[in-house]
Amino acid sequence: MYEDFLSSIAGVVGADQVLTGDEDLVPYGFDGTAVLKQRPLCVVFPADSLQVSGCVKLAALHAVPVVARGSGTGLSGGSVPVEKSMVLVLTRLDKILEVDERNLTLRAQCGVITKEVDDAAGRFGLFYPPDPGSMKISTIGGNVAENSGGLRGLKYGVTRDYVMGLTVVLPDGRLVELGNKCVKDVAGYSMKDLFIGSEGTLGIITEVLLKLLPKPQARRTMLALYDSMEAAAETVSAIIAAKIIPCTLEFLDRMTVGCVEDYAKIGLPTDVEALLLIETDGHPVAVEDETVRMRDIALKFGAREVKVAVDEAEGARLASARRQAFSALARVKPTTILEDVTVPRSELARMVKFIRLTAERHRLLIGTFGHMGDGNLHPTFLTDERDIEEMHRVELALEEIVEETLAVGGTVTGEHGVGLAKKVFLKRQFSEASYELMREVKRALDPRGLLNPGKIFD
Ligand SMILES: Cc1cc2nc3c(=O)[nH]c(=O)nc-3n(C[C@H](O)[C@H](O)[C@H](O)COP(=O)(O)OP(=O)(O)OC[C@H]3O[C@@H](n4cnc5c(N)ncnc54)[C@H](O)[C@@H]3O)c2cc1C
Repeated sequence: MYEDFLSSIAGVVGADQVLTGDEDLVPYGFDGTAVLKQRPLCVVFPADSLQVSGCVKLAALHAVPVVARGSGTGLSGGSVPVEKSMVLVLTRLDKILEVDERNLTLRAQCGVITKEVDDAAGRFGLFYPPDPGSMKISTIGGNVAENSGGLRGLKYGVTRDYVMGLTVVLPDGRLVELGNKCVKDVAGYSMKDLFIGSEGTLGIITEVLLKLLPKPQARRTMLALYDSMEAAAETVSAIIAAKIIPCTLEFLDRMTVGCVEDYAKIGLPTDVEALLLIETDGHPVAVEDETVRMRDIALKFGAREVKVAVDEAEGARLASARRQAFSALARVKPTTILEDVTVPRSELARMVKFIRLTAERHRLLIGTFGHMGDGNLHPTFLTDERDIEEMHRVELALEEIVEETLAVGGTVTGEHGVGLAKKVFLKRQFSEASYELMREVKRALDPRGLLNPGKIFD
């Protein structure tokens, strides 16, 4: 019954850009999220906005669900297909269309790799601040769809803060252009904002117009090592209270430091309770001043040792401790479940302690790292999906961590999105009316529920 549909799609993108063979579909049946898998009907590789629009129009005609996919690095199951769906892989839309030095903007197709956006900006003495840990592989469209955060989020904000315009294919296949290069624009509803973080459920983003910033002239990196979690958390509060906003303020717990050292051999002591990665950037004089003040604050609040990088190369080496945290933890056990709970900064120390005690109570391995300056924690369960009994304990522990997060005024996801993984928790975070409002928006834009169905909510 899908033959007509498949041959029409081949007519839009070319027969060689459509996969239907069982083995060919396997790699597109999962993303970076453990455990969740589903094979689609077909995988299609459009080359531009018009082809995306053509494919979506045909899907609407044949009532075939559409799942957008960038690089599939998502950590909430967002691009995991639904049964009998068409996966639209957007990686052929990989062109940087313009860098506008006069307006400090960059226009790119959605499939451009995030780091390539930053590299292109760099060639003009500019930079694109959002830098998710996956920036060497994730696509800019995927970042916008998830409103991704990154290691520079504390000072520079998240993807949303840099999106000035979008080209979007709506669920019926219409192409719309939202936003522009104006720094100020209050004409009508801010429609582009609706699509940022919408996880492919409202439209397919095919082009992005991004704001760039002048590249900071200098940067300094340091690592502070602690014998107590509380001392690390107090350092974070004291740095902010001293009116310093570092670009990076990241945290690794004891287990994560141990795994990173085992994996990357950076020379980290493995008996520390917490490690902070701190970076400041800007004018060289300000950077020097902030480096000295932050080192003093770290020592005053109990750091055992503070290593300040002498140059950019050493800075990159120290920062790699944080950048490699996920990969290092993922080596320990076959299944890695990475969570994304986020709490007000004042609750950080308590939350990290709660996670550690929950792990002990349920006899589980949980390594925690994250964006300390943003209150965004990544408790990472190291487990084995084949061990049913252990997976049950993972579920119980996760439930407790989520409940505690909501009890202290936090959110179930700070950057990875709701997708399939967090939708059971979403309802608990919102009042009935706020939750229903989101569903009404979905129904208004996608009344037949064909775009990424089953994600965010049922
Ligand atoms: C090692 C590692 C580190 C990570 N670090 C971070 C981090 O620091 N911060 C962070 O926020 N995330 C992080 N992530 C998660 C992930 O990389 C981001 O969510 C990223 O934005 C996903 O991009 P992607 O191209 O892989 O999108 P995918 O995984 O392919 O898709 C993600 C979601 O976006 C939708 N989508 C994709 N492209 C489009 C489009 N063009 N239009 C509409 N919808 C679309 C999909 O349907 C899906 O719902 C990390 C992941 C890994 C594996």
